[in-house]
Amino acid sequence: RFSTAAAAEEPIAPPVEINYTKLLINGQFVDSASGKTFPTLDPRTGEVIADVAEGDTEDINRAVSAARKAFDEGPWPRMTPYERSRIMLRFADLVGKHNDHIAALEAWDNGKTYEQAAKAEIPMLVRLFRYYAGWTDKIHGLTVPADGPHHVQTLHEPIGVVGQIIPWNFPLLMFAWKVGPALACGNTIVLKSAEQTPLTALYVANLFQEAGLPPGVLNVVSGYGPTAGAALASHMDVDKLAFTGSTETGKTVLGLAAQSNLKPVTLELGGKSPFIVCEDADITRAVELAHFALFFNQGQCCCAGSRTFVHERVYDEFLQKSKARAMKRVVGDPFKKGVEQGPQIDSEQFEKILGYIKSGKESSATLECGGGRFGSRGYYVQPTVFSNVEDDMLIAKEEIFGPVQSILKFKDQNEVIRRANASKYGLAAGVFTKNINTANTFARALRVGTVWINCFDVFDAAIPFGGYKLSGTGREKGIYSLQNYLQVKAVVTSLNNPAW
Ligand code: NAD
Repeated sequence: RFSTAAAAEEPIAPPVEINYTKLLINGQFVDSASGKTFPTLDPRTGEVIADVAEGDTEDINRAVSAARKAFDEGPWPRMTPYERSRIMLRFADLVGKHNDHIAALEAWDNGKTYEQAAKAEIPMLVRLFRYYAGWTDKIHGLTVPADGPHHVQTLHEPIGVVGQIIPWNFPLLMFAWKVGPALACGNTIVLKSAEQTPLTALYVANLFQEAGLPPGVLNVVSGYGPTAGAALASHMDVDKLAFTGSTETGKTVLGLAAQSNLKPVTLELGGKSPFIVCEDADITRAVELAHFALFFNQGQCCCAGSRTFVHERVYDEFLQKSKARAMKRVVGDPFKKGVEQGPQIDSEQFEKILGYIKSGKESSATLECGGGRFGSRGYYVQPTVFSNVEDDMLIAKEEIFGPVQSILKFKDQNEVIRRANASKYGLAAGVFTKNINTANTFARALRVGTVWINCFDVFDAAIPFGGYKLSGTGREKGIYSLQNYLQVKAVVTSLNNPAW
């Protein structure tokens, strides 16, 4: 599933050199206007890794002005598509060269395993920039056969200054999904990284400069949501906003966009994705992928398969195997080889997850394994499995965003379709069956943005991703994401000879 770009045999362990902690505005690393900083923490210990410049309204204003100037005057939107493509490809090459250092920085700041960052996420970022570099010279309008003596064409133009707000669970991939298509279309950007994970966005943004990106095209402001994030969402001179994070914050930023300049907004939000195991499924594979679907990235995935529906005829076998798999899961320092699960991102998420586990224990669900903290230091949580979960339990309804698998039993197809769709979210689903008709029925019936059949978490750059219902609006990746970053202009020219 993932690229196999070479990673160092032995992980680079912290302390890793941290080169960039200031804000990147107009091609320069600068202090925040207030001079304030905030600490970013090591989730393994809760200790401070570095103090990072804390952006606020004034810094967002400076960054938006730089992006505006780069859009209005700079070469970027008017460069040939081929030149833009070359810079994006050079950036991809540079990230590949710095793979191991970036992986170490990411594992340190986020708690995800070094291997996952080095062998999956960074290669996926590289792949995505190469994919969008390939789009720069294929973005074009149409000629329209309208009535009357007119020549009608559409121009697909960059939308302008783009504001992008990203979360902490996949700092590099979210950077890629946002920045890749926006740059391919010729826009300029102000990106606000998540306050929990500011380090890698600054590092890779600097590589973009090294690749030849003109100053002001990509500005990165670290800082908190209600200050820097809200200033970006409500800015009058930002032409488009792209947001990934919680549904609650998504509603807030949509409101800020509406109350300011009605900038269009794309939202990638939360989920409670069903993972459906039919009676004819390959159980060994379904168990492994259900485990992966939920526990991957410490369970901190918007599309985590967090409602595992299993047909009653295979339920007992599936449950025993899933429990055994979870008990074998290797939890520990994300820099150690063979470790599958590191710490959760911070104390807030850690406490929230333990709260959901407590509510599961207090319900009539059965705790099969795990159920508490792992170790005594940092934000580690035991891989936890609940069986006999009912639809109306909190653990079956709310997004836990942690390593807690909920297994539910079903009897027939229509019943499970109804139950799977009875969620406020609609991000993704997994379906495991050997029957093509069953697969096709689920593919059409499920009200979600992605249906994975006999697979899960396949994130090719070309495949669109996004949600129905409270999981968001708009699609990222693939051809679909370009639409988020383009304006369509109709040009109507009078023809002097109506005969032709
Ligand atoms: P969050 O909504 O608190 O934060 C996300 C980003 O929004 C951060 O950069 C944060 O600083 C910023 N923010 C917070 N308040 C803001 C405000 N008032 N105005 C502007 N910006 C603000 O979410 P989180 O806790 O960081 O991330 C976890 C959530 O994100 C989960 O619910 C998860 O499902 C969701 N998520 C969704 C996707 C997806 O692709 N659909 C991907 C990753 C995470």
